[in-house]
Amino acid sequence: MKLTITGSGTSHGIPVIGCKCKVCTSKSPKDKRFRTSAIIQEKDTYVVIDTGPDFRLQALNYGLCKLDAVLLTHAHADHVHGLDDIRVFTREKSIPVFSNTNTLAEVHNRYNYVFRQTQNGGGKPHIELVDCTNYNENNPLKIGSIDFVPVPMKHGTMQTTGWRFGKFAYLTDLNFLPISSFDRIKDIEVLIIDGLRTRPHETHFSFEQALEVAEKTTANKIYLTHICHDYTHDEIVKILEEKKKTHSNLVERLVAPSYDGLSIELE
Ligand SMILES: [Zn+2]
Ligand SMILES: [Zn+2]
Ligand SMILES: [Zn+2]
Repeated sequence: MKLTITGSGTSHGIPVIGCKCKVCTSKSPKDKRFRTSAIIQEKDTYVVIDTGPDFRLQALNYGLCKLDAVLLTHAHADHVHGLDDIRVFTREKSIPVFSNTNTLAEVHNRYNYVFRQTQNGGGKPHIELVDCTNYNENNPLKIGSIDFVPVPMKHGTMQTTGWRFGKFAYLTDLNFLPISSFDRIKDIEVLIIDGLRTRPHETHFSFEQALEVAEKTTANKIYLTHICHDYTHDEIVKILEEKKKTHSNLVERLVAPSYDGLSIELE
């Protein structure tokens, strides 16, 4: 199974429009951060987590030619405002979009035109909203050859959904992971987790908070995502190396920022 990070940036994307900071003007490809998203592939199964405003370019850049399902973490604009562009994959059949109840209600509201009769012409995506609430570690959601388990999370007052598949867990956007959700990410090897910046934030984990959750898991590779423009990729690598020293549980593990194009493959 292969996970590709197609976007590792916070809501406005990096570079931020009009910003002249060192990160937004950096020439390094690792400092260009599309809105947070990932492609999961195993054999002939292709799944996307979140379809933000950069979805079209992400699909083109990473050669996405097939799509079996979309998993949404939540309905914030930076995670769903590219959903219309999946319509090229829905000519022959509708594509299921899985998330929790409140996210799907919001998507239905935001994409109202998709679900009502409109005139012919002016294509629209054929999607089927499917509530993932009743799936869990004992009853996973099966898409092609992959089993997915939704992981309930809190993003401020909003209920968001992380996803576990194989030995991966993909958790964004959150600032709290309920104890019961740790049961859903047992025995993982790779953790992708929200880590916005070093300073605290009302609805996202800081680097420190992300590491506090990471050290309670079995992941030996830990990557931050949803990163803002406070630091370059190389600076974050150094910050995390220092932070690791204060978490005895993490010293032997890889703790690093993710970046657009990062690809991780596990058996
Ligand atoms: Zn977000
Ligand atoms: Zn900037
Ligand atoms: Zn959000």
